[in-house]
Amino acid sequence: MKKVSVQCRNIRLAYGSTEVLKNVNLNIQPGEFFALLGPSGSGKSTLLRLIAGFNKHQNGELLVDGRDIGQQEPWDRNIGMVFQSYALWPHLSVWDNVAFGLVERKVDKATLQSKVAAALELVGLSAFGQRKPNQLSGGQQQRVALARTIVIEPQVLLLDEPLSNLDKTLRVQMRQELLALQRRLGITTIFVTHDQEEAMTTADRMAVLDQGVVQQVGTPTELYDEPANAFVANFVGTMNMLDAKVRSQHTDHLVLDVMGVGEVKLPISSGDSNLYNIDQMVQLSFRPHAVSVGSAQSASNDATLCIQGTVEGSEFMGESTRYRIRVGSQSLSLDQPHYAGVPKLTAGTALNLNVSTTQIRLFTV
Ligand code: ADP
Repeated sequence: MKKVSVQCRNIRLAYGSTEVLKNVNLNIQPGEFFALLGPSGSGKSTLLRLIAGFNKHQNGELLVDGRDIGQQEPWDRNIGMVFQSYALWPHLSVWDNVAFGLVERKVDKATLQSKVAAALELVGLSAFGQRKPNQLSGGQQQRVALARTIVIEPQVLLLDEPLSNLDKTLRVQMRQELLALQRRLGITTIFVTHDQEEAMTTADRMAVLDQGVVQQVGTPTELYDEPANAFVANFVGTMNMLDAKVRSQHTDHLVLDVMGVGEVKLPISSGDSNLYNIDQMVQLSFRPHAVSVGSAQSASNDATLCIQGTVEGSEFMGESTRYRIRVGSQSLSLDQPHYAGVPKLTAGTALNLNVSTTQIRLFTV
């Protein structure tokens, strides 16, 4: 089957006076596994339903394989959608649920038989055709919903929070299955999730939405390592943010007054030297695992930012322990790998913290 692209160009959708999607632009590549990630209410489902044809945009264009399908009804679009609730017919067998779309399309009996059998085989449910949905586990129901959608051979597959009804272990297993199935079919797939781990572990690329605005599009690594703004930095993983004020700027470094901590020198590339104004508020951001406990140094140097802090509390996360550290009037997180038998740092312990300046990004406020 031909792999197709999906493009949103300047898409705007409002319910009455409430703008839910604001000038959305996305270029989803043929065969891509693409995640729409964002907090609840950010417009993810609205965008997915718009691509399916259940919502209509007021402005912009929706192109599939280069053709504007914005005016087509959902059933005229060659797009399959798996709903969060699975929406299986409870009175129909698994086989009849999967066959449903083909019956509607009046496919001949032999083709129907072979396509349903192939779809059930693909999701590993060949032996379950005669069961009713309520005789299946959550994961199996999810697979029936998938089989029912892919049996009609859509050009684009849309998944709305496909794994949110499953427990944690099954969710991790199913997301790998889903990805393997998508790779086998090569079908352009767009899936909605509010779970950044789910998006990061499966997506080729993802878009982060907030309040109907696409904040950034990129690979999971790009978004994690080079977030475009403070929202993405905080939504994709955990980020330390320290408020600071620009004291002076030089060709190769800035002098910052980190609130309640003191002055630090931060190297910048020469092209960035005119991006800041004196007294401008900025945020220094770095990941909790980029912080290490080091020896005391009299001053920060060009390669390392040194901060004094005091342990306030900790959260045990299994492979690591996350410490909450007070630094002056602010606080930050420090992740330390956990090994059996190594004691935890206790509250009140004074620490010298080091952060490599290569791991620090500055955001303007
Ligand atoms: P998400 O999927 O990211 O949780 P939604 O796309 O469901 O977000 O919703 C985005 C915003 O649009 C929310 O503020 C929601 O209240 C609003 N919204 C969704 N559907 C409707 C509707 N039919 N009428 C009015 N507002 C709606």
